Amino acid sequence: MTNPSLLILPGDGIGPEVMAEVRKIITWYGDKRGVTFDVSEDLVGGSAYDKHGVPLHDDTMARAQEVDAVLLGAVGGPKYDNLDFSVKPERGLLRLRKEMDLFSNLRPAQCFDALADFSSLKKDVVAGLDIMIVRELTSGVYFGEPRGIFEEGNERVGINTQRYTESEIDRVARSAFELARRRGNKVCSMEKANVMESGILWREVVQKVHDDDYPDVELSHMYADAGAMQLCRWPKQFDVIVTDNLFGDLLSDMAAMLTGSLGMLPSASLGLPMANGRPKAMYEPVHGSAPDIAGQGKANPIACILSFAMALRYSFDLGDEANRLEGAVEKVLADGLRTADLLGEEGVTPVSTTQMGDAIVAALDASL
Ligand code: NAD
Repeated sequence: MTNPSLLILPGDGIGPEVMAEVRKIITWYGDKRGVTFDVSEDLVGGSAYDKHGVPLHDDTMARAQEVDAVLLGAVGGPKYDNLDFSVKPERGLLRLRKEMDLFSNLRPAQCFDALADFSSLKKDVVAGLDIMIVRELTSGVYFGEPRGIFEEGNERVGINTQRYTESEIDRVARSAFELARRRGNKVCSMEKANVMESGILWREVVQKVHDDDYPDVELSHMYADAGAMQLCRWPKQFDVIVTDNLFGDLLSDMAAMLTGSLGMLPSASLGLPMANGRPKAMYEPVHGSAPDIAGQGKANPIACILSFAMALRYSFDLGDEANRLEGAVEKVLADGLRTADLLGEEGVTPVSTTQMGDAIVAALDASL
């Protein structure tokens, strides 16, 4: 049997620094757990532009379509801010998402006990929090036509169109129900069916997918504005939240920050299953290239490491190994190790990016 394949795209800024720590974890799994990946590495974003004049080379795109999973660091940086829109580093990322048709964006909001004090909410509201927001990523108001700024009478009008087909709603709803079955078996769907037709259709389709194929999963519906309130009031009432591109953009950022630092937040973007049954998939930390701390050993590698844990779980069906890796992260945090973004409490030990990676590898060793 061939090894599962991974394409690593470290990108720019702190991307290569945090990815180097993920590399240690990947090596550990090969050495200690017999889980060996065929790993290839390539350029994306500014680093690809520097070499090829484009933020994603066609060969890299083709490779991304072939592998079992893509692992991306981060793209962008001040050096590229004045480039033409068509070759900006972020276009590389968008091209990957679009051509791989990654319609289901998974953003966990998980609060490690050791970091509960970092939240702006009370400790008992967030301690032990573990929810997942599933955001539709390839349609909705960010893509709908018509769009643009037009002349209307003697003034201009800015137009964007919220548009969802039944099949687009159907497939993201399925991915949320499948996910819920592997977690707490509960889905809350959020839209604005009270004021938007696209919301009415969203609610109908999610309900039908549920009734036809996932009646065992508990389903509720909530207006997205009420959902935002509930997320702040008592987030632990949720397990999986499924929502559209725009509301998901806002709600996932909000939910994520309930738990503390940007340096802790992983994500997965999934598409349709490939011939081998694995979904098209890209895993990446939520944070950007952090040019303000790049090259200083200050970056927190945990978001990228937890993104790899998501790959173990969702691409490779290695949930136990994902739990092991998340457990190792939990242990180093409980031991008081903190990168610069998480300092502030008394009695913690400041560590660099590489020291944090090494400590997580040591905790993996200790888990055997
Ligand atoms: P950013 O996420 O790079 O940084 C925001 C703040 O969080 C900074 O102070 C940074 O130091 C800190 N931070 C981020 N990740 C961290 C980590 N792992 N450890 C410790 N601290 C961390 O966002 P920004 O500053 O708005 O953007 C910088 C560049 O990144 C821009 O070019 C932007 O376009 C790009 N960007 C890329 C992505 C991506 O690749 N997915 C996402 C967001 C922004």
